[in-house]
Amino acid sequence: MKFGGTSVADADAITRVVGIVKAARASSGLPPVVIVSAMSGVTDRLLELTASAERRRDAHVQNGIAELSRRHFEALERLLPPDAANDVLVEIGAQLEDLRALLKATGILRAASPSAHDAIVCTGELINSRIVAAALEQQGVPAAWVDARRAIVTDSAHTSASPKPEETREAVGREIIPRVAEGRVPVVGGFVGATSQGVTTTLGRGGSDYSAAIIGAALDSREIQIWTDVDGMLTADPRVVESPHVVPYLSFGEASELAYFGAKVLHPSTILPAVAKDIPVRILNSRRSGGPGTTITAEPPAADRALAAVACKRHVTMVEITSTRMLMAHGFLRRVFEVFERYRTAVDVVTTSEVSVSVTVDDAARLDDIVDALREFSEVNVEGGLAILCAVGDNLRCDPRIAARVIGALDGCPVRMVSQAASRRNVTIVVRDEDLARGMAQLHGEFFG
Ligand code: ADP
Ligand code: ASP
Ligand code: MG
Repeated sequence: MKFGGTSVADADAITRVVGIVKAARASSGLPPVVIVSAMSGVTDRLLELTASAERRRDAHVQNGIAELSRRHFEALERLLPPDAANDVLVEIGAQLEDLRALLKATGILRAASPSAHDAIVCTGELINSRIVAAALEQQGVPAAWVDARRAIVTDSAHTSASPKPEETREAVGREIIPRVAEGRVPVVGGFVGATSQGVTTTLGRGGSDYSAAIIGAALDSREIQIWTDVDGMLTADPRVVESPHVVPYLSFGEASELAYFGAKVLHPSTILPAVAKDIPVRILNSRRSGGPGTTITAEPPAADRALAAVACKRHVTMVEITSTRMLMAHGFLRRVFEVFERYRTAVDVVTTSEVSVSVTVDDAARLDDIVDALREFSEVNVEGGLAILCAVGDNLRCDPRIAARVIGALDGCPVRMVSQAASRRNVTIVVRDEDLARGMAQLHGEFFG
């Protein structure tokens, strides 16, 4: 059971979580494993404090640490009576001392190394998981805090590390399974892991979902539950489209596409460990715990819906690369993609013509270097201020009319790129950022209105 930032944002939210965990434990007989995010906004704040420390805004950093301490101590005070809070207070105090020291060192060095960065941003999850474990105990649910750095073993790609499944399985067997066997609810901070040498790493923004799936797979768990602040996977991003509906069932393939193309409710890597073990993933609302939510499985019940949902991603940049020879010589695509690989930049949508290839990237940090490298053998044109709109549904595979309806629904929105994968589970369309809201409304209205 993974609880996201708004589901553990303060004492009231944590009290709701305790109720949900209690009920789950009673109904299944086995203690669930609980994965906890940082309180909402805390990771953003830690990142901002790191940047401020680098610019020697020392007073601002001190105030920030004080504010973070207050927020956590206040929640703890409301959840536990003073005598029960002592041990946790000491642990949290030590964690905050580490944070203070790391930010001080960052200030002196005027830079946070990738490993310092991860040691700073892990603070939110490490502290909050201790608070949740203590709150469970206080409410009569035997619980045990588990150090995520001892349970998830990753490579050393700081800020977006990948798990090592074998080592993690072993670590989970050592750190988590014995707690379950004792009848305790293990509580683990999400988003955080460590290399096999014990150096702290993090799994990328939104990575607590991924932690839940990694641990769920290592445990061969019956189900992976993602508890959040919406009723499930919705037919569109509720921040872009008014009143989307809950999608009751999704296939693993549909859910991955939606997550990859912007449905933030699920970290894009979450589905992978679940697929490998064929474990159902459910998305549920921690504020309305009775709802059915969304269930994601390999083979969901057949549905005659045209699409499962639509997703979108803003602030996308298109790069159009034209071969300087008139035709695309063989080897041209290899050279193009090798440049993106060299600068570790993922490409989302790709289309080709006889002489050119167009790609989109959403991380434009290395774009200048990429363009310089591409210009050595091609002509390059860059267009920013774009957005991706993605229509997803397994039925796109068998009914060609659905894709035509998707394009038709965008009437009046100038389309910059269109792509449909061979697996035909999605149609991806690139439009200008300013046309996104209208395009999404029209597309959603056509299929779910
Ligand atoms: P958590 O803190 O629980 O991990 P997130 O903020 O990461 O929650 O993800 C939940 C949010 O994802 C929702 O509040 C919603 O605004 C956003 N979201 C975007 N697209 C979708 C979608 N298709 N279905 C549900 N939520 C979506
Ligand atoms: N706290 C981390 C983040 O905000 C991880 C998560 O919440 O999933 O990115
Ligand atoms: Mg999230």
